[in-house]
Amino acid sequence: MQVTKPKTKKVSLTKQRRAETWQRLTKEQQSVIQKHIHYQQTSLFMNHELIGHGRHWSLVAFHENMNFDSPSSPQLYCDCGRRLKYQYVLTNNLGEEIKLGITHFADHIGIPEAVARQLQAEIHQLNFGLDELLQRIRRHAGLNQEMRNWFIIHQDEFDDLPPNTVDFVTQNLPPEREIQTDIVRAYKKATYVKKDHVHRKKTKLNKKAWQEIFREI
Ligand SMILES: [Zn+2]
Repeated sequence: MQVTKPKTKKVSLTKQRRAETWQRLTKEQQSVIQKHIHYQQTSLFMNHELIGHGRHWSLVAFHENMNFDSPSSPQLYCDCGRRLKYQYVLTNNLGEEIKLGITHFADHIGIPEAVARQLQAEIHQLNFGLDELLQRIRRHAGLNQEMRNWFIIHQDEFDDLPPNTVDFVTQNLPPEREIQTDIVRAYKKATYVKKDHVHRKKTKLNKKAWQEIFREI
């Protein structure tokens, strides 16, 4: 099977599809994905030095307004009173805290426009990444049960796994494409001899079994 380089395709789901996919997940799956989003946001902010009005700012929390589409329910707001879908909580080196929307970083705390725009662009990428993940979940991309069990046992043999990988696999969520490719490759290598021996004198693996092994990643 030819393993193609993962493409950085932009995937965007409609609001409805995103919501229905999310609702179909178990509570455990949702919590693993939320943890993943928080990790990504935190890393993203740590990669930038945020200096505005002579202070150093850092991200302490990130909240998504789950009631954005029903304005009569409790909402999240920017420092200026604007209603927000995503609220960022930042503190500076003097211990002051501010809650605000990403588009007002320049206005309220003096982060240079260019830095704020860069942050916004990166956050958009994260959101595309999240849609892509949900899309893969919809298509049931991911490891089959045998591979998942194998990976959990052999996880220490993989270097530099992204921190979410074991949680993702445990909860039957597709890990990152490249990681999944590595796992499938290692699994096949580790189980090839045994399977080959068992099936050598028998009929070939049936079509379904092959499809299972080469399940879309
Ligand atoms: Zn504002």
